[in-house]
Amino acid sequence: MIHWKRDVDPDHLHFKLARVLSQAIILLRDHNMPFKFFEGKRSAERQGELFSLGHSKCDGIVVVSEHQVGRAMDLVYWKNGNWDWSDEYMYKAMGYLIMHEFGEIIDWGYLLWGWDLPHFQLKPYHDPS
Ligand SMILES: [Zn+2]
Repeated sequence: MIHWKRDVDPDHLHFKLARVLSQAIILLRDHNMPFKFFEGKRSAERQGELFSLGHSKCDGIVVVSEHQVGRAMDLVYWKNGNWDWSDEYMYKAMGYLIMHEFGEIIDWGYLLWGWDLPHFQLKPYHDPS
């Protein structure tokens, strides 16, 4: 059971990531890919909870997630009215589409670490938050 709420306010993201998000939502809609903005900024408490549940490799204190500084977002497949993490093919199609369009600005969790298909974050050389 997760106690800390997901933050889906784009205003809590770095402005460049917020811009990518709004354009990505349109791009995905135009390709009939029902992905939605699942989570953006994260508190240290929520990060720690996700870590303790095994959903993240960042504990939120020693290893800080890009989510905590508003530089990361997760796009999750909205399949028939439910969140779905299982359809790897859909996630890869979505991710490569996003990277084709925004790969100059953001990195994709799957290409960074070989997992974390829903995760995108600003490239490190973009101005600090
Ligand atoms: Zn993420």
